[in-house]
Formats: sequence, C-alpha cells, structure tokens
Amino acid sequence: MVQILIAEDDPVSRRLLEITLRKWGYEVVVTCDGEEAWQRLQQEDAPRLAILDWMMPKMDGLEVCRKVRAQKAEPYTYLILLTAKGQKEDIVAGLESGADDYVTKPFHAHELRVRLRAGERILDLQAKLIEAREALRVQATHDFLTGLWNRAAIFDLLRQELARAEREKRMLAIAVMDLDHFKCINDTYGHLVGDTVLRETVQRIRPLLRIYDALGRYGGEEFLLVLPGCDALEAVRVAERIRVEICQTPIKAEGKEVAVTCSLGVAIFDPARPMDMDACIRTADRALYQAKSNGRNRVELAATTDGKRKFLSAHEVLAHAEQDLSYRTGR
Ligand SMILES: [Mg+2]
Repeated sequence: MVQILIAEDDPVSRRLLEITLRKWGYEVVVTCDGEEAWQRLQQEDAPRLAILDWMMPKMDGLEVCRKVRAQKAEPYTYLILLTAKGQKEDIVAGLESGADDYVTKPFHAHELRVRLRAGERILDLQAKLIEAREALRVQATHDFLTGLWNRAAIFDLLRQELARAEREKRMLAIAVMDLDHFKCINDTYGHLVGDTVLRETVQRIRPLLRIYDALGRYGGEEFLLVLPGCDALEAVRVAERIRVEICQTPIKAEGKEVAVTCSLGVAIFDPARPMDMDACIRTADRALYQAKSNGRNRVELAATTDGKRKFLSAHEVLAHAEQDLSYRTGR
C-alpha cells in the first residue's frame, strides 16, 4: 500500500483529506503542522509522497519543501502543495521552493487523484533508475566469476584503508595470495574446472575473514586481502588458516577431485613508518615471490628486524610469538 503524508492545520480539511485518501487505498500518515511533517519526513521509513498545506503554524508548506530539497536527494520525496492561493506568482513561489505540483483548496477530488497518480509514476521511475544504476555499480566494481571486488575496487578500498590507518595510527595488513600451478589445473582439467576452483577457493576463504576485511580478485588466480587493524602475528595467523583451508581437502569440480595449494605474501603497514599503496603491494608481492621460491604452499611475511629487510615464514612468526619476542615489520 502506498504511504502518503498529509500536513494540514485545519481539522475539517485534514479529516476530509484523510478520509478521501484512505478511500482511494492509500495508507495515510497524518500531521497537523509543518514542523511535525518535517520531523516525520526525515525518518528512515518516511512516506515518499506528501501533500502539504501552504499556510500552517510553526513551519509553512514552502519551508517544508525547501528543507526536504536541501536534504539528501535520494530517495526522492514527491511534494504536492495544497493552497487557497491561486495567483500565478504564488504558484511560482511554491514550485521554486521545491514542490513538484500544487492543488488549490478546496480540492477537486478527481484532480487530486490524477495528480497523485502522476507523482506515483515519477517515484516508480526514480526507483527503477536507482535499481539500474546500482546494478551497473555492482558490475563495475565486482569480479563476474567470483563476486569479489575487482582489481580497481580493491585498490580503491586499500587506498582508503591505508589513509584511515595512517590517520588513526593503526596497523593494517595486506596479503597477496596466489594459487600454486594454476595454469597446470587449467591445462589438465580445462577452464571450467579452473573457474570452479577459483569460486570454491573464495567460498573457503570468506568464513575465515572478519566483516571489515576485504577480499578482491587481483589477477587471474591472484587475490588481495586487506586486513584493517591486524598486526604481523594476526595477519600471519589468518594467512596460515587460509593456506591450510585450501590445501587440506581437494576441490571437487566436474566430477574430479583437484588438489589445490596456495602461497601467500604478507606485508604490514605500520603508521610509525608509513608507506604508500604501491609500496605496500610491492612488499607483499616480494613476500609472495619468496613463498613461491621457498617451495609454495606457504606463507611468508615481509619483515624488518634490526633495520634489515627479511622474510619470515609463518612457522617462524608463530614460533617467535610463542617466545614472546617482538619485532618490527615493514619494508
Ligand atoms: Mg492551513
């Protein structure tokens, strides 16, 4: 049922309007002055269609129109002014305040009904436009195969998270993950199996992430993880969990069981020694390269100990953590 808000200070006109609208099948939200109408229109579930009397105490209909228009543009509220004034300049003032239409009092029932229908058509069109735009936005920012953020979107997200981490003086971890010998999987089993492996990989990773972590498809079989607030130890734990989750059970695809492993490179953004996005990704890429050259199916962390750059395996990081040693991380 379409909701409609009415604002009218005169009790007799208000009652008449309410009864008429209900008879036409609208759900009516009744307010008695401009102030009350404005309060109601700001609420999350506010009616998108409103009939406002021009002359009202506290706040007149024109002022309500101005306030509604000054607020966010979406979702749109269709505003009809109800006025005893019929002169041209008044109508101009009414429409300039942001009203979409006006009806003169005493209202002619049939006319009001058609004007309300016109308003509903506008609202329907706007809803469809927003829906179409949202669909395009999803297409533009998501990877079609896996449903993850695409490369451009995950980079945008990382840029924002790095700025936030620097401002809030918090750590941030990123991990670059690559499926080992993925080309072999495609060559041996075909691309359909390859696609299933990518999708299943994502399904396995998702439950291991927190709600504010982000995962994007970085390249063909490469993924980028953004882990806000994670220090080296936490990030390595997450990466190691992912590695185990991927390798411990073969992936079923097209009636075949495919053994899959992955390698991960982890880099830490330390607000005490900030680095830009490119440097972060390069650092994680180098750690990934190290994981590959150390035999794959492993996690490597890019760390700095005593000013020297080095890589630490997940095993080393977790062992260090057990000994309660602290070390600095970075480039
Ligand atoms: Mg009035």
